[in-house]
Amino acid sequence: MKPIERTTRWLPPGVHGMTLWPFILYLRGHEGDIALRCHEHYHWRHALRWGVLPWYLAYGVLKLWYLGQPSERHPLETPAYAKQRQIIELLAQGASIDQQLAELGMV
Ligand SMILES: [Zn+2]
Repeated sequence: MKPIERTTRWLPPGVHGMTLWPFILYLRGHEGDIALRCHEHYHWRHALRWGVLPWYLAYGVLKLWYLGQPSERHPLETPAYAKQRQIIELLAQGASIDQQLAELGMV
């Protein structure tokens, strides 16, 4: 099972990608950002593992709890940002990201 990835002309200000299961939406111009794609695929797979509804309920409650704080502090965002940073670092080193892509089911 894979997400349905689409590009959109509008997302909330400052948002370049959004997982709305079963879709992943990218703001036009950001669909080629592989690190962002890995971030969103991480969410997509996390929601699949938890069950989509429980994941979104937890996400919403935690979003309120962490309101006004940097989105990276949200407990369901922290590992997705870590994965995104890992991809950026691997690419900066010229290393392969094949294993990361395979783990995220992207290949
Ligand atoms: Zn995220």
